[in-house]
Amino acid sequence: MTSLSNILFQFFLLICLYGIVKIIIEIINQRKCPEDEELKDVVLGITKKNTASADKVIRHLGICEKCQERAREIGSE
Ligand SMILES: [Zn+2]
Repeated sequence: MTSLSNILFQFFLLICLYGIVKIIIEIINQRKCPEDEELKDVVLGITKKNTASADKVIRHLGICEKCQERAREIGSE
């Protein structure tokens, strides 16, 4: 019984760790500026909304002034 709960605990710990690592990777990816093409496709609506890549760029636009400026330039072209 003790070993079973031990295994369950370790399993639980692993899931938690996996979740934390995933969140960290997501934060790092979010901070990274998208490529010109990637940004352009989202701003011009070529990349469909609600897809993972569009979501990433839109979230990045919320935190990055540089890319907000880039998006404005693309939009005004
Ligand atoms: Zn950016």
